[in-house]
Amino acid sequence: MILGGGPAGSVAAALLARAGFDVVLLERARFPRYHLGESLAPCSLAVLDDLGLRDELDARYVRKYGVRFMDCRTGRQQRYDYTEASTGDDLYAWQVPRADFDARLLARAKELGADVREGHAVDDVLFEQGRATGVRARCDDGSAAGFSARIIVDATGHESLLATRLGLRAAVQGLDRTALVAHYQHVTRNTDDSEGDLDAVLFPHGWVWNIPFLGDVNSVGAVCSATWMRARARGESLEAFFARTLDDAPIARTMLAPATRLTPVRAVSSFAHRSTTRVGDGWLLVGDAAGFFDPLFCAGTHLAIAGAAEAFEAVSQALAEPSSEAAHLARYAARMDAAMDLYQGLTQALHAGDLTESLFEARTRSSRQALAAVLAGDVFGDDPPWRAALRGRFPVRAT
Ligand SMILES: Cc1cc2nc3c(=O)[nH]c(=O)nc-3n(C[C@H](O)[C@H](O)[C@H](O)COP(=O)(O)OP(=O)(O)OC[C@H]3O[C@@H](n4cnc5c(N)ncnc54)[C@H](O)[C@@H]3O)c2cc1C
Repeated sequence: MILGGGPAGSVAAALLARAGFDVVLLERARFPRYHLGESLAPCSLAVLDDLGLRDELDARYVRKYGVRFMDCRTGRQQRYDYTEASTGDDLYAWQVPRADFDARLLARAKELGADVREGHAVDDVLFEQGRATGVRARCDDGSAAGFSARIIVDATGHESLLATRLGLRAAVQGLDRTALVAHYQHVTRNTDDSEGDLDAVLFPHGWVWNIPFLGDVNSVGAVCSATWMRARARGESLEAFFARTLDDAPIARTMLAPATRLTPVRAVSSFAHRSTTRVGDGWLLVGDAAGFFDPLFCAGTHLAIAGAAEAFEAVSQALAEPSSEAAHLARYAARMDAAMDLYQGLTQALHAGDLTESLFEARTRSSRQALAAVLAGDVFGDDPPWRAALRGRFPVRAT
């Protein structure tokens, strides 16, 4: 049973259903629904490809070949092309309006045989003698429903239902950030292969993302420190405060000079969290339900999509071999932990200001390759030496 139909839940459901397992997926919303998280990582594509979605997604979304970092304080720029990563040659990702992307993934899970129930909000996970055995859900027609399950995959995203209920969810030190975000039309764009790049503009209050979609709409967001958020004046609208925030990021302001804002400004706060454990007796957490740090490395959707593929391996092995369930889930947890440690350490270093020099001054082929590989999402599987080196240089800071 899967809880939540975002990328993590949809991919896990699609893979399990295709492998012949009976899968029920309960999703609170009815799709399409708005969501943040629009810039994917290239290493997620193998999973989407395997689900038969590559050509279709290629036609729907702009390709992203790299990430361009710019620093408003020094004027420095540095672009990482994914081909610099050791991971492979044909590396690109997509910039995706999430309502559309998520709806397509959920539909794919249905096509592959998952029993997808939208409008089903899971209220509680039921335990018997310490083992998760089912859930209770509320349907949007007012009825209630109960489901039993052999294994429960919690993919409820930021809500992280199980981790919250079990008291496992923790804030992440140094990442108390708020994102201000809106969609714009007519943002200045590059006209070559770098048109689809993710722009990351560092500025005194944090960093600004610029994500171009196919057509003429961009997602622009500022990830701001708690200190800066306290500078919002009483009664100041989010629109005015966002404009004032961007005034301190002249590079972003210039890109936005010809642009028109299409949506109200939204604020999302306290999004960084990590659960202290990822698996238990009869359950596991995947995607944001296990944790999320920051949009910069596009780690969120990647941990959701590639993490769901890892979860699929663990769950299918556990279902085939129930006596070894704990070992299979523990292996999944260890792989997720290694990937999350890498992202968390780098993100904490970024916000502490300790990653800036490495980003802008990485000159040797190996240091550029390591950063390009993380940006591409090469974070799973046996550790190549560069990953251990990055973990050593940018370790997780204690919570
Ligand atoms: C400001 C911001 C910007 C971001 N930008 C990026 C980015 O550019 N790139 C990137 O990779 N990531 C980004 N992310 C992260 C990204 O949004 C998430 O990592 C990603 O959506 C995780 O996917 P998921 O499937 O785990 O969870 P979600 O996509 O959140 O899906 C969870 C689903 O579970 C459902 N649900 C929740 N509770 C229940 C319940 N009780 N019962 C039933 N269903 C339930 C929800 O309705 C939802 O559909 C960003 C995050 C933030 C906060």
